[in-house]
Amino acid sequence: MTVHAPDHVKAIAPYQAGKPIGELARELGLDEAGIVKLASNENPLGMSPRARAAMSDAFDDLARYPDSNGFELKAAIAERYGVTPGQITLGNGSNDLLELATRALVSAGEHVVYSEHAFVVYMLASQAVGARATVVPARDYGHDLDAMLAAITPQTRIVFVANPNNPTGTLIDGAALERFVISVPGDVAVVLDQAYDEYLTPEQRYDATAWLSRRDNLIICRTFSKAYGLAGLRLGFALAGTEVTDLMNRVRQPFNTNSLAQAAALGALSDDVFLRESYELNLRERERLESAFVRMGLEHVPSAANFVLVKVGDGAAVTQAMLELGVIIRPVGGYGLPAFVRVSVGLPEENTRFLSALSEVLGKRTT
Ligand SMILES: *Cc1c(COP(=O)(O)O)cnc(C)c1O
Repeated sequence: MTVHAPDHVKAIAPYQAGKPIGELARELGLDEAGIVKLASNENPLGMSPRARAAMSDAFDDLARYPDSNGFELKAAIAERYGVTPGQITLGNGSNDLLELATRALVSAGEHVVYSEHAFVVYMLASQAVGARATVVPARDYGHDLDAMLAAITPQTRIVFVANPNNPTGTLIDGAALERFVISVPGDVAVVLDQAYDEYLTPEQRYDATAWLSRRDNLIICRTFSKAYGLAGLRLGFALAGTEVTDLMNRVRQPFNTNSLAQAAALGALSDDVFLRESYELNLRERERLESAFVRMGLEHVPSAANFVLVKVGDGAAVTQAMLELGVIIRPVGGYGLPAFVRVSVGLPEENTRFLSALSEVLGKRTT
């Protein structure tokens, strides 16, 4: 006798995370300091000093439950984005929000739409509720919005869009995205995942929050894990209409975001200087990586985020050879991109380590 489980749960493949530094150190018998991790799109500058200070102030209250409604953090987010607290859902990372939206809006057997090569959590969240999915073929590694629109059926409940997308780094321009959001039927939710929005240049920026007043079906997901440097604390937020926000809050755990994360996020939001430094470092170093790929004769997908997808031949073998040199990058065969690897933009010296290891592995020169 064994326990019963739904077929749609048994069909879920476990999420493949970037290898933790400690794990590789144990495997190679190396010091953790000798390892470079460029596999999970984390902020190489760490976190804002204001986030750190806010967190230490919150230490004394850790015997108490967190504020279930995140009053102070929601107030700060509301002010920053020009929404009301009733339009905000806090999540244990934005991953939590993707799941909350799916659980709140999709029943087993109903339908969702997302793109080929899109962030894998759209698939995982949909599978967990037994939804059916249409995976729309990518165009130039990015979302084909016309085809995604055409894939919507009367059973469709959510269309997921990542902008920029992970792992491809592709960006849909604001005008095209706005036309898409307006064209999606009002009873189908558009989950717009903006995990890397802080990395967009002034020319690439667009204001999706301005669309919320016209579209009750729009759910914008943001995170403190990437540019804000708080990945280990797990905090994200969704902006949506009050009706959708109410539904998402009904299915969340009462204390889904912890006190330290709420405090740190509040501190981080107040530190524009740190955000600016993170943005500028990323722009400079991403440009350096992309030019190096061109010199090495490696095809890459131009990135709008803090990582680059680059074609190396056998992505899994190159990832393994890089690991043996103490450099952790991400294979993306699971995303249907077996010839590529994804590398996060690190500190200058980390990127130098990465480039020299890559040229060693590929037997090519970096200059
Ligand atoms: C990293 C990432 C997220 C979420 O990260 P959290 O740490 O759960 O906030 C969401 N979407 C995309 C596309 C990502 O790359």
